[in-house]
Amino acid sequence: MKYDRSFNFSAGPAMMPEPVLEEIRDEMMNYRGSGTSVMEMSHRSKAFQQIAADAEADLRKLMNIPDNYKVLFIQGGGTVQFAMVPMNLMKNGKAVYIETGAWSKKAIAEAKKYGEVIVAASSKDKNFSYVPDCSDLDIPEDADYVYICENETIHGLTYNKLPNTKGHILVSDQSSMFLSRPCNVADYGLIWAGVQKNVGPAGMAVVIIREDLLRDDLAPYVPAYMSYKTHADNDSMYNTPNCWAIYCCGKVFRYLLDNGGVEAMEQRNIEKAKILYDFLDNSKMFQGTVEKADRSLMNVPFVTASKESDDAVVAATKAAGFDNLKGHRSVGGLRASIYNAMPKEGVEALVAFLKDYEAKN
Ligand SMILES: *Cc1c(COP(=O)(O)O)cnc(C)c1O
Repeated sequence: MKYDRSFNFSAGPAMMPEPVLEEIRDEMMNYRGSGTSVMEMSHRSKAFQQIAADAEADLRKLMNIPDNYKVLFIQGGGTVQFAMVPMNLMKNGKAVYIETGAWSKKAIAEAKKYGEVIVAASSKDKNFSYVPDCSDLDIPEDADYVYICENETIHGLTYNKLPNTKGHILVSDQSSMFLSRPCNVADYGLIWAGVQKNVGPAGMAVVIIREDLLRDDLAPYVPAYMSYKTHADNDSMYNTPNCWAIYCCGKVFRYLLDNGGVEAMEQRNIEKAKILYDFLDNSKMFQGTVEKADRSLMNVPFVTASKESDDAVVAATKAAGFDNLKGHRSVGGLRASIYNAMPKEGVEALVAFLKDYEAKN
């Protein structure tokens, strides 16, 4: 591989497209004749205002975001959104959550600080190895929203059909699947994504929110920074934003537009995941942990027969130049995260390695 880089299967921060990293490198010392690097630039400068405006415009194009939705760049990564969602959207103090793994559990725990949380469906009974049926959920009339984690990064499952919210607002954590496939923004009230999984550097979330959900009647103790309206009213520059992340994400948005958009990404991602899942389905040594219909295209957890042999495989992959294949501590085993920026060659090389490993062990 160019630059002697390894294939990095990390769940996040994760790989970014090489052409994007090269562009960032080339612009590092003097951004387009501005005399400074982007890191040293005022967020109020013309140059940076253009960077932010372009990033938003390109994301709108990529996702075909309707005009009545705001795009916000908010610091605090994904975790801050676990609190911002209930703080801003709980009007009646009641929300429905679907529990499908580690990240929806965290969202539920945080939301409970702000109101009543009704877990209307869960796959806890089978260690979060499937997406529960959400076609006829028991949703109280006065529930403020229905919340899902659309791709569970740790457990490796994904929704292929959105819940029937019976007219309620749908809120989705898309962190680990953002821009990996087309999505109809109008189906949601709010989509948010921590960007370090499938887009750029850590420390920021993109929030896409329908305008009528912005409120100026929040509880008086809600910090100004935690109000979506604050960010919307100030074009995400109420305070100094994460300029660097906005810049890098903008580069990735442009790169995706130049490479066929999310439709092309989906095709590539299906192809890549198939290589790995086909191998797992035919292997005697390695087993996928998620029901076939609900498998993620982005995060692929798998196990061997014992923890000892899991650890041995992880060590062997590491020695062979494949990074970060150790599964999350809550699931064990291995996990290959194969986001947009992971080339097909990386997945092919990993599968070839695992095949060979299986033959020899
Ligand atoms: C990583 C992740 C988060 C948390 O993001 P942080 O930026 O680490 O706070 C939330 N949800 C999902 C689905 C994630 O993958």
